Amino acid sequence: MSIWIKNPLATHTGTPDDAGGGLVVDPTTGTVLELVPSGGAPTIEPQQVVDASEHVVVPGLINTHHHFYQTLTRAWGPVADVPLFPWLVNLYPVWARLHPRALELATTVAMAELLRSGCTTAADHHYIFPGGLEDAVDIQAEVTRRLGMRAMLTRGSMTLGERDGGLPPQSVVEDPDTILADSQRLIDTHHERGDGAQVQIALAPCSPFSVTTSIMRDSADLAERNDVRLHTHLAETDDEQDFCLERFGMRTVDYLESVGWLTDRTWLAHGIHFDDDEIARLGSAGTAVAHCPSSNMRLASGVCRGVELEDAGAPLGVGVDGSASNDGSNMISEVRQAMYLQRLYYGADRVTVRRALDWATQGSARALGRTDIGVLAPGKQADLAMFRQDDLQFSGSHDPLSALLLCGTERADRVMVGGQWRVEGGQVVGLDVPALVAEHSAAARALVAG
Ligand code: ZN
Repeated sequence: MSIWIKNPLATHTGTPDDAGGGLVVDPTTGTVLELVPSGGAPTIEPQQVVDASEHVVVPGLINTHHHFYQTLTRAWGPVADVPLFPWLVNLYPVWARLHPRALELATTVAMAELLRSGCTTAADHHYIFPGGLEDAVDIQAEVTRRLGMRAMLTRGSMTLGERDGGLPPQSVVEDPDTILADSQRLIDTHHERGDGAQVQIALAPCSPFSVTTSIMRDSADLAERNDVRLHTHLAETDDEQDFCLERFGMRTVDYLESVGWLTDRTWLAHGIHFDDDEIARLGSAGTAVAHCPSSNMRLASGVCRGVELEDAGAPLGVGVDGSASNDGSNMISEVRQAMYLQRLYYGADRVTVRRALDWATQGSARALGRTDIGVLAPGKQADLAMFRQDDLQFSGSHDPLSALLLCGTERADRVMVGGQWRVEGGQVVGLDVPALVAEHSAAARALVAG
């Protein structure tokens, strides 16, 4: 069985190879069989042909940072116009009421939005485990498999409550032994290894201002023993830098190094407030950064020095961040935001359309430690997104690949994950969106009402 995605309007494979004639995928193995050069035909007769003459084809976009549960607290009035710390302090008590059904709905909404925007793999950072929600990550793994996406689900944690000088209320912090035991259980239960993995687990203490030094160290040891990745928020705001200096007597990157996290096993959310020396150290360590431009602008946190980080050797990926600070989960829009925000600092000629697309595909794949996704090439996973350009906003555009970002694409027409169509005709296959929106909205209202 093979499918020829034939003669696209434009293709960006992320490799130097010509794929003007499209590509052939094998839905049985879920991989790319061959790239077809311009004017060429597949070497083996395909069983099925999909006409892509109205589509731009790119590798499936990879989201490196999210908090799916936050789709329940989008655009909430009390935090619409405040920076990070008061935003968090107001939201923690609402999030502390999270329950299994609400999380299942929130995860479904976030992943469906991501799929529709061309995303095929998403990382989620879940760190809220109130009583009754011990199975949060298991719920997310189940939704991931139901929708047919790939996910890097991170077992987050908070151990430093208000009583001990941290930011979160005591009701949402956990005991370190519980966190470590559950982390091991989740790795044993869900973590898939090797090419084509659908669900992976990483360990993710929330941030320096919400966890103790010991849980950072113990998580690094556990990750090393199990060969899984490490994730945390770092250097998002100046407030955080001040907190680190006051509590630990050192800046964020020194702190990261002191707890054994300055390695290529780690990817950091935001990574904004670094000096030149810190950028060089992160680059030589190969520590990756998830650039979240919308969230950083929304909370006025600062600008990630993304181009410099990448040039120094740090893999750079793109993330939409949680839906309480974006407040959407649209990956193709986020690539445009990343391109424009980085252009503002580094110039249009250094931040090309292709470079921005590479951040959200192969850069993000490297951040998540994957070599099987992020580019379209023989043997790689058949994860791809196809975008039409026949709507009003594209009329009069000339170069289709440039138009993909410059004209503000919002939605994919077709999305394939591992050789299977998960979006067709702009709709997530098998999902009743009106019913989902009705139930999710009701859950969101109830959560905020308390
Ligand atoms: Zn975040």
